Amino acid sequence: MADEQKKDAPKISKIEVDRDACISVASCVDIAPEVFELDDEGKAVIKNPKGNPDNTILEAAQSCPVNAVILYDENGKKIWPEE
Ligand code: SF4
Repeated sequence: MADEQKKDAPKISKIEVDRDACISVASCVDIAPEVFELDDEGKAVIKNPKGNPDNTILEAAQSCPVNAVILYDENGKKIWPEE
């Protein structure tokens, strides 16, 4: 049931990857394999922004050791990383 959308999960409308920060750990890919993949340079890219539920995407972003996954909600507010 881990893939089910939680009611209180934030609504993610935009995902960015900071390619300069990404160190190719691929934990984002492990957690949300339908959203992220590694490109030829071993950097994470967005394959399908709606590929996994939002709470899974948030978990993937939180798993990134260098906070290279940046998430925005539908109002353009940054949800992750927290400032
Ligand atoms: S978890 Fe972070 S560092 Fe690792 S591949 Fe994903 S974006 Fe890059």
